[in-house]
Amino acid sequence: MRKNIVAGNWKMNKTLAEGLALAKELNEVLANEKPNCDVVIGTPFIHLASVAAAIDTNKIGVAAQNCADKESGAYTGEVSAAMVASTGAKYVILGHSERRAYYHETAEILKDKVVLALANGLTPIFCIGEVLEEREAGKQNEVVYSQLAGSLFDLSAEDFSKIVLAYEPVWAIGTGKTATAEQAQEIHAYIRSTIVQKYGKEVADNTSILYGGSCKASNAKELFANPDVDGGLIGGASLKADDFKGIIDAFN
Ligand code: 13P
Repeated sequence: MRKNIVAGNWKMNKTLAEGLALAKELNEVLANEKPNCDVVIGTPFIHLASVAAAIDTNKIGVAAQNCADKESGAYTGEVSAAMVASTGAKYVILGHSERRAYYHETAEILKDKVVLALANGLTPIFCIGEVLEEREAGKQNEVVYSQLAGSLFDLSAEDFSKIVLAYEPVWAIGTGKTATAEQAQEIHAYIRSTIVQKYGKEVADNTSILYGGSCKASNAKELFANPDVDGGLIGGASLKADDFKGIIDAFN
């Protein structure tokens, strides 16, 4: 059966000292609890090794927010999937709309990143989602289908079953405008139906599909109560341990 997951995406926030303090605080807050979901924190690259060393990684998984589309070599400034894995991180967020929009990551580039992440034993948290104009034109299903097909549907069923998906409508990211529980369920069910078509019911039933976009403690319960919403990918509300814990508690 698929896992429920609450994953934080710190984006480009927190110095090393601040990030370590946040990770340790969350570790502390969860020390005597057994959350009803997997918990992941997505830190900037420079935090990965120290954060992984400072927390109980059996309880809190560590994610990078990106990795290179090349294996190794003369790619100044890039960080490979092997390097990410060597820090103790177990996940990598790929295809975030901010990377697609600001850093021109195409379906082809993302396809290569996914392959390298999997080859290095990382779990990709692969993001898909439409912009406002596409939603207003009723094209959201088309958009998420082409994002899935363009980067993931060449994978074998075995490899696809290692992927976590995150549906993040771009119009809901950092805007305070969350998708309604109905909107989230509708498109998550559509996403799962495309996986049924491509890989069959068993793979689809085992794929976690997270919702992201202005998710916070006050709306998480309603969103996560939907049968096809298996948790969240959390930006702003992952930057404070108590706020993030409030979202984890939505599964209690
Ligand atoms: P917010 O939760 O800040 O809207 O960000 C969502 C997101 O982009 C997570 O990856």
